[in-house]
Amino acid sequence: MLNLKYLLPDSYQDSIYQINYQGLAKQGIKALLFDLDNTLIDYVQTKLTVEVIEFLKELEKTFKIIIISNSHKKRVQNAIGTHFDLIYFAKKPLKFGFKKAIKNLGYKSHEIAMIGDQLMTDIYGGNRTDLFTIIVDPIQKKTDKLPTRINRKIENYFIRRVEKKYPKAYEEVLKKYAIKNK
Ligand SMILES: [Mg+2]
Repeated sequence: MLNLKYLLPDSYQDSIYQINYQGLAKQGIKALLFDLDNTLIDYVQTKLTVEVIEFLKELEKTFKIIIISNSHKKRVQNAIGTHFDLIYFAKKPLKFGFKKAIKNLGYKSHEIAMIGDQLMTDIYGGNRTDLFTIIVDPIQKKTDKLPTRINRKIENYFIRRVEKKYPKAYEEVLKKYAIKNK
């Protein structure tokens, strides 16, 4: 049974560039897990851009970084190269990939933030492994592949249910995302 409260992120921002990373460091976050597709690059792009690489390299001065993706090995390895640690075919929202990341990092769950564009995978999975979760807008929703399109339809349905059950939290962390990404 799906647990609605796991669909509530701890925070929402338009993009990875808007996140208050200093604030995260202050609250004790030591590592950042980033989703790949439509969080760092859209589905049409095959490699991280120089802009993204430089931005993440700057963050690496403060945080450990792992890119955690449900995409297959070839796509993920080709996109990231040797720039960052990665986990492919992570099967988010299952715990498997997150547990692997937590183990590799050697940090407590609450010292790790998960940043991604999908509630049903990134946020749900991050929350059930007790990570600090941040939802961002998808970079280019129209490039979503079929499974993600289906996920977003399911997501819309569950967002309505979250709104009913947790109206205050919905206002605070989901409303903007829900309106922009309907
Ligand atoms: Mg994604």
